[in-house]
Amino acid sequence: MTLEEIKKKLPKSLEITKTCYEGSEIVFYTKNRSFFVEGAPEIKELVTEFRKRVNIRPDPSIVVEPEEAKKLILELVPEEANIKDVLFEPEFGKVIILAQKPGLVIGKVGETLREIKRKTYWSPEIQRVPLFVSNIVNRAREIVHEEAKYRKSFLNKIGEKIQLKKGSKEGWVRISLLGGFREVGRSCILLQTKESKVLLDCGLYSESPIETHPYVDAPEFDIDALDAIIISHAHLDHSGFAPYLYEYGFKGPMYCTPPTRDLTTMLTLDFIDVVQREGKKSPYTSSGVKSAIKHSVTLDFNEVCDITPDMRLTFQNAGHILGSALSHIHIGEGLHNLLYTSDLKFGPSKLLEPAFTNFSRIETLMIESTYGGAHDIIPPKRDADANLIDMINKTIKTGGKVVIPAFSVGRAQEAMMVLAEAHQQGLLNVPVYLDGMIWNATAIHTTYPEYLSRYLQRQIFHMNNNPFNSEIFHRVSGMTERKNVIDEKEPSVILTTSGMITGGPIMEYLRHLAGDKKNTLIFIGYQAEGTLGSRIQKGWRDVPFPGGNGSQKLLKIEANIATVEGFSGHSDRNQLINYISKIRARPERIIIGHGEPSKSMNLASTLHKLQRVETIVPRNLDAIRLR
Ligand SMILES: [Zn+2]
Ligand SMILES: [Zn+2]
Repeated sequence: MTLEEIKKKLPKSLEITKTCYEGSEIVFYTKNRSFFVEGAPEIKELVTEFRKRVNIRPDPSIVVEPEEAKKLILELVPEEANIKDVLFEPEFGKVIILAQKPGLVIGKVGETLREIKRKTYWSPEIQRVPLFVSNIVNRAREIVHEEAKYRKSFLNKIGEKIQLKKGSKEGWVRISLLGGFREVGRSCILLQTKESKVLLDCGLYSESPIETHPYVDAPEFDIDALDAIIISHAHLDHSGFAPYLYEYGFKGPMYCTPPTRDLTTMLTLDFIDVVQREGKKSPYTSSGVKSAIKHSVTLDFNEVCDITPDMRLTFQNAGHILGSALSHIHIGEGLHNLLYTSDLKFGPSKLLEPAFTNFSRIETLMIESTYGGAHDIIPPKRDADANLIDMINKTIKTGGKVVIPAFSVGRAQEAMMVLAEAHQQGLLNVPVYLDGMIWNATAIHTTYPEYLSRYLQRQIFHMNNNPFNSEIFHRVSGMTERKNVIDEKEPSVILTTSGMITGGPIMEYLRHLAGDKKNTLIFIGYQAEGTLGSRIQKGWRDVPFPGGNGSQKLLKIEANIATVEGFSGHSDRNQLINYISKIRARPERIIIGHGEPSKSMNLASTLHKLQRVETIVPRNLDAIRLR
């Protein structure tokens, strides 16, 4: 059925002036004010019939002037909501309300929101502003807002392409593995059917000098024929090469969750910066990043979305980092169901809920194996937390400082939550300095509390105790402040990037603090082979260290070196096995990637024995027919 036919089916009294597709949604623009505010039963029927989301928007002729509408909104919403800005997107009939407390803009059972519609005839959308200033969150949102006109026609075009066509029960499905198999890094999978070509992740190696990008030169990869990119989460080994495709002309949608869009923006811009500072050439510039944001389509968990005529995507929580998603793809009408887990955590953490398991159908499961090896057993998280606090306190007692290298996204915030809780329980009483991108990443966490664990949501929403806001945290920005932290006589904890000591502010801290026996360096994250972090962790006492103007000096390590296991955002071997047994659906085939070859293979043979299913450990450039 075409849009025109649908429009004809609806009563004239609804005064529909325009019907169009915006992405996978059908949108009606109307002059009928009460239809706009209250909706109509005919629309509900449409939703059931086509399993499409339907949006009703105001015709431009009925909206209240923006100045007046803004005034009305500020009157209707209680002051405590702390509205920071009100923006209008006439292209979509939308008013965007940026507030610190969105709940108060919505009101009890949505009453305030309905009042806003009733009084202004604009479609309200609320965005939470971060607890502290973050240019990065603003940047991604600004681009989306500035590009409203472009996005309107872009979304229309995607919609036209997807159409209302029902997928077929026949056909074939295959995947080509372009990166991230028998290795960790540059995850990239091309998923193809007769009708569609979609990329699952598009990452790079950011910590290693070898082949840095996925095999986009494989013959089956054609940028012009690509329909869409799905980004599972913001880590560069999954997102870091996407801007390259946009810089070189890709104009299709990039599907991800809202936090992934913001975190990816932050990490890719930082990547360009780091590469350039090292005097190397970045594979893309900030215009590639900007273009990726411009083409992003964000989906929340559990939101079902048609992304091509025969593929329906649903994201669910992967428990790995903020916004990280499991991608469930339903192909054709029941032709095939693929679950691509990407990185996942099926275990307790303060920050996030464990990965979602309630899938009703999966034929092919693609899963990671970072810690899938026979000996990859991580101690319980509770012990890890206690261990960390113990080690810190031992150092504090002797008057030393603790330096913790951490990835800006994920481990840093998990550690912060443990430190904030210890502080609240009276177990830790020294300042915790946050340096590098950690502050910005944390600001993004405060923008999306809905994506955090239930434990944290309870603290934030019901107990008015936001641990991100704890008084022990202090931001360090710039050389002078960094020097003050280093020179300070009192003990402290310094949480800083980069996680594997490959660059960033950690270098400055080590240069000055590593030579003192009183201090301790604590590793809480994965150290890839060949990185400075891995060498120091292994016990090297004299390490080659960048000495400025490209020269290398030997740095003598006198500080204590410690590792706290159990902080990983990845599942260990048991958690991976347990996860697969807890998924409601029973996959017919398990494809294993994102791990060193021996680990992937070991996990495969164990799963084969336990689950009695086909397990495959493919190599990059292999292609597998799924159906
Ligand atoms: Zn990851
Ligand atoms: Zn990864």
